[in-house]
Amino acid sequence: MSFHLRYITKITLFFFGLQMLNIPYAVAQKAPANSGHTKSRKTSSASSTKKGKAGAAVGVGKDEVVVQIIHDVSPQQIQKNIEKLVSFGTRNTLSINDPDAQTSGKGIVAAYEWIKSEFQRYSDACGGCLDIKTDERVLEPTGPNSRLKQPTNVQNVYVIQRGTDPALKNRIYVVTGHYDSRAKDVMDANAPAPGANDDASGTAVSLECARVLSKHKFPATILYLTVAGEEQGLLGSGHFAKRVTELGLGVEDVLNNDIVGGNRTPGDKEQNSNWVRVFSEGIPATATPDQIKTIRATGEENDSPSRELARYVAEVARTYSSFGQFTPKLIFRRDRYLRGGDHISFNEKGFAAVRLTEYREDFHHQHENPRTENGIEYGDLPKFVDFNYVANVARLNAATLASLALGPAPPVKPRLLTHELENDSKLEWGPAGGATAYEVLWRKTTDAEFPEENVTRTTDTKIDMPESKDDVIFGVRSVDAKGHRSVIEVPEAQR
Ligand SMILES: [Zn+2]
Repeated sequence: MSFHLRYITKITLFFFGLQMLNIPYAVAQKAPANSGHTKSRKTSSASSTKKGKAGAAVGVGKDEVVVQIIHDVSPQQIQKNIEKLVSFGTRNTLSINDPDAQTSGKGIVAAYEWIKSEFQRYSDACGGCLDIKTDERVLEPTGPNSRLKQPTNVQNVYVIQRGTDPALKNRIYVVTGHYDSRAKDVMDANAPAPGANDDASGTAVSLECARVLSKHKFPATILYLTVAGEEQGLLGSGHFAKRVTELGLGVEDVLNNDIVGGNRTPGDKEQNSNWVRVFSEGIPATATPDQIKTIRATGEENDSPSRELARYVAEVARTYSSFGQFTPKLIFRRDRYLRGGDHISFNEKGFAAVRLTEYREDFHHQHENPRTENGIEYGDLPKFVDFNYVANVARLNAATLASLALGPAPPVKPRLLTHELENDSKLEWGPAGGATAYEVLWRKTTDAEFPEENVTRTTDTKIDMPESKDDVIFGVRSVDAKGHRSVIEVPEAQR
């Protein structure tokens, strides 16, 4: 719901930010795009009545907690989890309707039970710090193109690690992957469908994030999600996104991991294990015609909340260079060309959501029945998965979630004042929970990201920038006493 409000009241998309910090590389951490809408957000905190002084943002350095989290991610644990998921034979969503689904130890029901037990194991290790929940719904086959044959229960598992700060805990950051799989025939509930890459890899990322992040406390809330029904038409994520919207939960950002296995097929020379693609929508799916009109008038086609989230992911990677050469490659497109995934379910409810996917897919190992034909081995098998690559993807997710959940809330409703015609740019915003200062960033309209040098810090909640709003795009983010940054928000035009 907050996202809807967001879009209605601001068309502005916020940018989040990026930038920042830090020693070796300053990068910023960006905040999600939403922000101004969370009513529970505390409004108070920083802000003086004087105009802030311009001054370059001073990097504070990496947060040691995040460094530890990155270190804790285990390729061996990820391998174990992927192999376990594959061991269920198929995780086709329709296999829940098999007469022996509850007892066979095979199929999607067995996978669902195992995922719950694995999350429970992590929770037991942290003294019950995780709340394991399920979200299920019987969906009816609808129309000739339905990928259901009969009423089918689509079961998601979600796990809540509640935030510790009363003022920030209603901000929720989500990581998700789909645990269902498919054979070549998506309606075949019995054929082997190992789905090691698609998407046991993404499921393993949600699990591993829960395992390593649950060793720490965060002011905001993190939600670990694994959904079913993706292959049948984004059914599980669609239901979950609808549910959180109806409940008015303060979901801020969603990281969807689908096909993050890093394919290591022998002889493949074109895979790049240093890159993971991060897809983000441009124009928000829920933008109304009036909002699209404003986006066109302000040139904010490249600044949806989802795109700011993508920039935040890139920022985190630069800040924590412990990834070695591994780095996100931002793709300014909703998903792969004409294709889709679970983040779209969230986008369509107004949430900021991005998709992470390996650099280069191998279609011999996707949606194929395992077999060898003309010397080519088909099938989505664990032996083609690069577990170190999946671990890097998990590190990037975990570091992003931690940075978001440790940081202050973004500035509330930044505005760019336009009632006078003038060549400078006056911005205002409301104080944010957890913030001790704010940073105003700008970039050229042709820049893909906010350069780290274009930052001005202030303790005030307004500023007069010398750059012309005609020529640049502004963003504002919050900073806390330890140097954590919020998401960047793009100011709304105030006429
Ligand atoms: Zn998939």
